[in-house]
Amino acid sequence: MKRKNAWEKYNENERKEIFRFCEDYRKFISECKTERECVEALTAKAEANGYRNLNDVITSGEKLQAGDKVYAVNMKKMLALFQIGTEAFENGMNILGGHIDSPRLDLKQNPLYESDSLALLETHYYGGVKKYQWVARPMALHGIVVKKDGTSINVSIGEKDDEPVVGVSDLLIHLAAKQMDKKGARVVEGEDLNILIGSIPLEGEETEPVKANILKILKEKYDMEEADFQSAELEAVPAGSARDYGLDSSMIIGYGQDDRVCSYPSAEAMFAIKDPARTCVCLLVDKEEIGSVGATGMRAHYFENAMAELIALTTPAYSELTLRRALRACRMLSCDVSAGFDPLYASAFEKKNAALMGHGVCYNKFTGSRGKSGSNDANAEFIGRLRKIMDDNNVTWQTAELGRVDVGGGGTIAYICALYGMEVIDSGVPVLSMHAPQEIINKADLFEAVKAYRAFMIEG
Ligand code: MN
Ligand code: MN
Repeated sequence: MKRKNAWEKYNENERKEIFRFCEDYRKFISECKTERECVEALTAKAEANGYRNLNDVITSGEKLQAGDKVYAVNMKKMLALFQIGTEAFENGMNILGGHIDSPRLDLKQNPLYESDSLALLETHYYGGVKKYQWVARPMALHGIVVKKDGTSINVSIGEKDDEPVVGVSDLLIHLAAKQMDKKGARVVEGEDLNILIGSIPLEGEETEPVKANILKILKEKYDMEEADFQSAELEAVPAGSARDYGLDSSMIIGYGQDDRVCSYPSAEAMFAIKDPARTCVCLLVDKEEIGSVGATGMRAHYFENAMAELIALTTPAYSELTLRRALRACRMLSCDVSAGFDPLYASAFEKKNAALMGHGVCYNKFTGSRGKSGSNDANAEFIGRLRKIMDDNNVTWQTAELGRVDVGGGGTIAYICALYGMEVIDSGVPVLSMHAPQEIINKADLFEAVKAYRAFMIEG
């Protein structure tokens, strides 16, 4: 089956629109590198678009009606946006769901130590990474430190031009003969991903003077003690802005595009909706990269609970049966990235069923590995419906799977949402170098994704 290169269909005006949309996206991923930062920025945007905090609505005692827009934030790491439709909840909702966590190096709870006149921070990597990719590069520290009295300090070091960066060193090639003989998984060991953060000794300090100097800086700059690391969430991420990529600027390279390249257009599609028939939902969740666990992952009941609140706020009396029926009748795009076909690694793909860069938003009927294990296998009936919506709206789209059979695999939040009995399929942007510190996407695919998401919310 022939697939179209999306770039071939755009006229001059459309190209301008694509570059403008992608420039806003590029700025977003340059500024929002953690789940907390994404929630903060998108909550502000939601408020600017007329969304109100669900908790405020509950407290006020007022009821919600068609056209109302509310958001719910869970533990500052997960965001749900709702726009109430004219149809009853039992008819179901249209949902876009992406994740806003990305692979990175998390600081341990007792991270700071001194060795051989250098101060370092211990880390535990988060998500699936090729560890050797995370060394010898400038990194920034993002996150929060919560003190015993409950006050918290926001930390961001290494993004501005006048701020220092940190990072993990690598062994020089001259002495690396033994290292180069190791298996890729062990070229750099997880326990050795330690971040170098200082080298000046504190004057007059006998024991661990370099560490003492770093603690002095942390005290001055953040009013932070060493023990405060225990209640901190500090993430080391690649420093610096995302950039246009390719001499034609057709692509973007940057950190955390899995899955912000789908989360961002999901939120933008949500903000563009006006007076929907079915209630529309945009779910941006945390912890996808480590199995959707914890209170802010998709497996938690936060979405279901927020839905229960919405039913209570829109009907005379809350009904558990209405909630169950509403969830079952939903249709959802699980907005997550897929592997773009890479000619340098062609043997990992079966080309006819791989996502081609620049060939539009891709639909993965199933994910999983070894015989679709762990997959949500979307229904043909649902895909038939989506084909019509995509074609009617001139969306360039393709079907894909993650790689050759039995080469590997992956998962998303789709199978968790499917537990409610709703129709759900993975739909996202192809990515090159997925889970590397710098990932690459094609601007045409991002643009086709936001078009697809908008069309789905209205007609899905
Ligand atoms: Mn993902
Ligand atoms: Mn991922």
